[in-house]
Amino acid sequence: MEDRFKLLAERFAEIADLNAASAVLQWDQETYMPVQGCAARSNALATIQTEAHRRLVSDEVAGLLDAVEGWARARGEDSFEAAFVRTARRDHARARKVPGELVAELARTTSLALEAWQAARARSDFAAFAPHLEKVVSLNRRKAEALETGERLYDALLDEYEPGAKTSEVEAAFRVLREGLVPIVREVVAREGAVSSAVLNAECAEAEQFELCKEVVARLGYDFERGRLDRSAHAFTTTFSVDDVRITTRVKKDFLPSALYAAVHECGHALYAQGIDKRFERTPLNDGASLGVHESQSRLWENLVGRGRPFCAWLLPLLRKRFPDAFGRCSQEEFYRAVNKAGPSLIRVEADEVTYNLHVLLRFELESALVEGRLKVSDAPEAWNARMSDTVGIAPPDDARGILQDIHWAAGLIGYFPTYTLGNIMSAQFYAKAREALPELEAQLARGEFAPLKGWLGEKLHVHGRKVSAGRLLQRVVNGPLDSKPFLDYLQRKYAELYGFQP
Ligand code: ZN
Repeated sequence: MEDRFKLLAERFAEIADLNAASAVLQWDQETYMPVQGCAARSNALATIQTEAHRRLVSDEVAGLLDAVEGWARARGEDSFEAAFVRTARRDHARARKVPGELVAELARTTSLALEAWQAARARSDFAAFAPHLEKVVSLNRRKAEALETGERLYDALLDEYEPGAKTSEVEAAFRVLREGLVPIVREVVAREGAVSSAVLNAECAEAEQFELCKEVVARLGYDFERGRLDRSAHAFTTTFSVDDVRITTRVKKDFLPSALYAAVHECGHALYAQGIDKRFERTPLNDGASLGVHESQSRLWENLVGRGRPFCAWLLPLLRKRFPDAFGRCSQEEFYRAVNKAGPSLIRVEADEVTYNLHVLLRFELESALVEGRLKVSDAPEAWNARMSDTVGIAPPDDARGILQDIHWAAGLIGYFPTYTLGNIMSAQFYAKAREALPELEAQLARGEFAPLKGWLGEKLHVHGRKVSAGRLLQRVVNGPLDSKPFLDYLQRKYAELYGFQP
């Protein structure tokens, strides 16, 4: 049996190699590829990805999985072999359940939808995008039906990004969150002038900002021997192997937080990816437990650490040294308040920690209603605008700054949005435990000592990769299920103090 398992592992190692190769090509596309390289790159990517898919769904893999499953389980649920076969089986089964013609049609549809979306957004013309969205929704519905996971149709789509999560659980957690967030937003709006972010609009040389980002992520523990930082239009993290995890950031000359916090965010993802057990290299276990858990790590570093007083105290001297004109006279308190300014805004990716989740909640409500047939595409913009007014307190003046702002639906990604907020919820649950375990944490952060926190996260979360599911990881680390309360408590305390209201 050992031989059969070895053969299965070899097959998955080859699939991992193909996936790594396509990740390198995608990384290059986003960073250094000349514009004219696009067509050739699409072909190369399509060929490699089709080959990886063909191998994953092959009868050989099916036979090997059947043969070793019982043997692997007998080695114990927590064994490497059992976890390997469990995740390999999941990937294989999901890929096999969706018919090839549906995969191809989704690819064709989204490639046209992306083009149409870009044009529609530029002209703020939802009607031009609507037929494409109709098609994306109906294909996703067919995909969900083919996958047959869970009671709700949306469960199957959510499960792709957040394995094991149920739509009804997410709805329950988000309901609690909304009830807590809306009053905070109201208080913040009533005291709008209490916090100023003016100091952040000073010009800072782009090259120097990029150097600062490098310095900061290196201090946080990002290993430049096993990664690199580059610039791209949208910041992202990508993994070629445990020993090659790349991050990018974007730079805005007159808004330093854009580059800085994107780098810290991606660094959080990268610390996770660099911290996975090296034995998982070239196996299906070399990945995060879920997108939500991954996002919990980026958000933990970006917000709970990066927008906290201790971190700001450590950071300010570095800023003064590199940008004396912009930050020479800025006080710690002024900087801390500036990077935490909150308030209603139209664009999700620019939103603060409080309102951000309301943006996500509305997308989750709309996309689950679209897939499950409770909302028509033609009624979606109105539903979007009404919810923006209701919960965020601001009405989009046009669809470009409303329903057309995100790439996800055009790219066919339905079920993805909730993972952003699940990540925020989990980040507070994990951070509360870290503070208990590391009583000196705040003092360490203020001194720029990030190793104890990185070490704790590494041991509790990162090292396990995809071996332990998101649900079990939470259970193990925080002794409980997903819970919005720690995140709400954190926001209530922080923003009540910043804006001067009763929590
Ligand atoms: Zn992220």
